[in-house]
Parts: sequence; structure tokens; C-alpha cells
Amino acid sequence: MLAGVPEPVTVRVPAKINLALQVGQLRPDGYHDLATVFQAVSLYDEVTATPATGISVAVAGEGADTVPSGPENIAYRAAQALAADVDAPGGVALEIAKGIPVAGGMAGGSADAAGTLVACDALWGTNCDRGELTALAARLGSDVPFLLRGGTALGTSRGEILADVLARGTYHWVLALADGGLSTPEVYAAFDRLGSATGPGPDGVLAALRTGRAEDLAEVLVNDLQPAAISLRPSLSRVLDAGADIGALGGVVSGSGPTVALLASSAEHAAGLAAQLAGLGVCRTVRRAYGPVAGARVVDVTAR
Ligand code: ATP
Repeated sequence: MLAGVPEPVTVRVPAKINLALQVGQLRPDGYHDLATVFQAVSLYDEVTATPATGISVAVAGEGADTVPSGPENIAYRAAQALAADVDAPGGVALEIAKGIPVAGGMAGGSADAAGTLVACDALWGTNCDRGELTALAARLGSDVPFLLRGGTALGTSRGEILADVLARGTYHWVLALADGGLSTPEVYAAFDRLGSATGPGPDGVLAALRTGRAEDLAEVLVNDLQPAAISLRPSLSRVLDAGADIGALGGVVSGSGPTVALLASSAEHAAGLAAQLAGLGVCRTVRRAYGPVAGARVVDVTAR
């Protein structure tokens, strides 16, 4: 390291699954009121921040060719917003290694924004507290505050207002990743067009999480956007049916889709389900993940 030049900072940041997603009224600002239960799961992007003049973004990994590398990248906007807020010079080269599917309903872009806030705060030594970072995160996007925080949380308003929930246990998921993404605004437009009803909301999920039993959670997984996502991508029904056929405890489209999350009873059960699902050819690829996991955290790359 050159004297006075900070070392690069790498932050690992998870994906999310919505265990419950209740979509309410369309608000005057164009957003729907939501009540959602987020869980952070062990599928990660890594954001590395290196000192530089000006801001740049390079993206590698899963679906990188479909992600913008300039100012349209939400990570770029996160660095810019932090620099403006703390009045820092704001130079950084951001490298994003994507493990979260792009436009998969798992909030990969929001994860990168959260990771960038933590990475730049450490790189620039701006030492923002969690409250400041959370306020900035909420301005960048509805899911960004949750990816900063991780764990399991209840999200209301656009999803950016978070409350603790009592969640016991670790849950094992099999994720069916689709070919190509779904646009979140298009899924909400389909929700409106279909005149979709608002479902039962998060109470069942909150009660199940208190028991820590995956069997209980599987019964109550709910996503009001699921019919809209299926209307745009009918093949998602086949994935959900396949999950039930091979013995998943339950399944749900994650957020706006098209990723489908299947719940297993244990890590071993998830391994078996993943192998069977991959053999059926109903999705592009299959991943396993568990949750809840921590939100955006600096990683010690020298320990690897
Ligand atoms: P959500 O679940 O929050 O609705 P998503 O997981 O479905 O989001 P993202 O992966 O966040 O979708 O990407 C949505 C779009 O945002 C992509 O099509 C991409 O063009 C754009 N985008 C901008 N920055 C990023 C980024 N850092 N990573 C991924 N996509 C990005």
C-alpha cells in the first residue's frame, strides 16, 4: 500500500426473498403501499471500492452484460449520493461481482446500492452511522434499506420502512433462476391491469416465523404479485408445479419474479430438491441458499 492511499474495500451483500408481499393501494406518487416480510438469503454480490478520481462502475459475473456500467447503474448513484451528503470528494472505482440474478426479483441492484454505501463510507472514512446510511438508502430505492440491514424484517410504505420481527430458525431454499428477467414496473402494471386483489398480508408469515418451523412457513408464503408475474411468464406455473411434485414444502415467486423460491425442510432436503429440479429442465439454473443472513458487510479479503 502506498503511504496515504487507502486499501480497496470489499463488501458482501445478500439477495432478498419476500416471504409475504401484500400489495395495497396505488398512491398518488405512483408507488403501491406494501406490507412485506423480507428475508436476506445467502446469494451474494460483492462490491469492491478502490480509490480513484471520479466515479466508475465495472460489472462482472451473473448477467453482467445486461447491467449498465455508467451513471445508470444504481451503485454509481449510491456513490454520488453519499459523496454529496457527506461533502466528500467522491472518487471511487466500483467493481461489482454479481452472484444475484439480474432482474430476478431478488433486489440485486438494490443490494449493490447498499454495498456501495457501506464500501464508500469505509473507503472515504466518512463514518456515517446506520441511521444516516439508512436514510440515504431509502432515497435510492425501496429495497435498499433492507439490504443494508439483512436478517428478517417487516417492510411497509414502499418497503423502505422496516421493523424487527421475531424470527426463529434457519430456512433452506432452492432457487429456480429463469432465462431473462422481469421488469418490476411491468409486473406492477400487470397487477393493476388484472385488477388483482390484495391478499391476506404478512400476519400468517409472522406467526410461522415465531415457531421456527419450515413446514408452518411453507403453508403461508404469499405474494400478491405472483399472478401478475405468471401472466407475463406463464412458464413460472410449471416451476411451481414441479416444486410441489418433487416434494418442496412450499413455493413462491420472489418479489416481482421470475425467480421462484422453493422451501425445503433441511439443507439435505434442499440438496435433493435442487438436483431433481435441475434434471427437470424447467428453469435456466438452480441455486441453493439459506436465510436469514446479515446485510451489507465489509469482508476481509486477506483472510481468504
Ligand atoms: P427488485 O427485486 O428490487 O424489483 P430485481 O432483482 O428484479 O429488483 P435488479 O437486478 O435490481 O432487479 O435490476 C433491475 C434493472 O436495474 C436491471 O434490468 C438493470 O438494467 C438495472 N440496474 C441498474 N444497476 C444495476 C445493478 N447494479 N445490478 C443489477 N441491475 C442494475
